[in-house]
Amino acid sequence: MEVFGSSGTRGVANDELTPAFVLRVAKAAGTAWGVDRVAIARDTRYTGRMLADAAASGLASTGTDVDRLGVVPTPGAQFYAEREGVPVIVVTASHNPPQYNGIKLVGSDGVELAVSDLERIEEALLAESYTDAPWDETGRVREVEGVTTDYVDALLAAVDREAIADADLTVALDPGHGAGSLTSPEFFRELGCRVVTVNGQPDGHFPGRDPEPVPENLEDLGRLVRATDADVGIAHDGDADRAIFFDENGEYVEGDATLAALAAAELEEGDTTVSAVNVSQRLVDVVDDVGADLELTPIGSTNIITRIEELEANGRRVPIAGEGNGGIFFPGYRLSRDGAFTAARFLELVAERPVSEIAAPYDDYANVRRNIEYESTAERDAMLDAAANHAHSADADLNTRDGYRLDYGDAWVLARPSGTEPLVRIYAEARDVDRANGLAEEMYETLLDARDEA
Ligand code: MG
Repeated sequence: MEVFGSSGTRGVANDELTPAFVLRVAKAAGTAWGVDRVAIARDTRYTGRMLADAAASGLASTGTDVDRLGVVPTPGAQFYAEREGVPVIVVTASHNPPQYNGIKLVGSDGVELAVSDLERIEEALLAESYTDAPWDETGRVREVEGVTTDYVDALLAAVDREAIADADLTVALDPGHGAGSLTSPEFFRELGCRVVTVNGQPDGHFPGRDPEPVPENLEDLGRLVRATDADVGIAHDGDADRAIFFDENGEYVEGDATLAALAAAELEEGDTTVSAVNVSQRLVDVVDDVGADLELTPIGSTNIITRIEELEANGRRVPIAGEGNGGIFFPGYRLSRDGAFTAARFLELVAERPVSEIAAPYDDYANVRRNIEYESTAERDAMLDAAANHAHSADADLNTRDGYRLDYGDAWVLARPSGTEPLVRIYAEARDVDRANGLAEEMYETLLDARDEA
């Protein structure tokens, strides 16, 4: 797919991602869907309203009525889609920096569109073959109020409120000025937690921190945990489909450790879990201990969703799936990532024992991530060729499902181009930090040389 990559369409707003482009995507989606009504939601980004307005015009021009939901977390928009049986266009760039925006398309079942559906829309877009309604049959646009409240109510009904409330937890929350600012503080309060926040006001300029919940953006949250003696710190990305945690000492917990801990609580013998090709050894070890199966897909939530659907259609139980970036699926709840729901499931564990103890079994693994920027496709291709050559000369098993993953037995390293930014990402993991650093550095130097020669 040229237009819809692994994470929908994203780019710098009003430069790569213009209102004119969003209007065409909306016309193509309205045409391909051919339904009476479509909803539009957005995260808090400054350019969100401008782009959502363009999407509304595009949809209405195809004769589709439009429900404007306003600022809603992506999982809240998915909740609305499922409840109302309408597709949704979500204007969000998830964890990307403030100047970015993007589009995510959700089907009337509340699930992100499968590749085959995206291809149908992309066809209409590239052929510019749109339904153009006569003036008196263009769609009506209406504002829908209260979606965030209904979404929080649905969350509350789906988790073990009593266990969490009985534990009298203090939650330090960093919604990062994103869409979760409107829902997560209320949600955790309703769960009976004492809630203290940082970056808690919705603000599309993201003055306190960038939307990506990585340690370098979350130092304030660590301090807040310590200052308020909180039991746990919780951070979301810009559209609140992800949750990242801090322990009671204000220490960052690796997303891979969280996924492993939640998987250990959810998985039973014979179950299957699905993750991406950059999966941590931590999850591999949990799956081995339990006697479950692990399936790997190319990186990107669409691939994971597709695989979960295939497995469930074949009668397999998939209670949990996801990636180590805090984006976790609980398919028994919904086939979507939900930062608030993930956090509540984690709080069910925190009600039993401190976060540091929950994370302890998954502590002694070292993850290294590095990025190399490129300025041209020639530079990118030279780097990927170099990664392939490096893989073939290394004493490792090669997996080319998505990028180049080299498994050395005690460690692994992966090089793959980002789907959304001009970067090649390098991941490495081992129990020994020097080993992980060494493998990442070796790959980094190889790619850097190739890029500089290109
Ligand atoms: Mg997100």
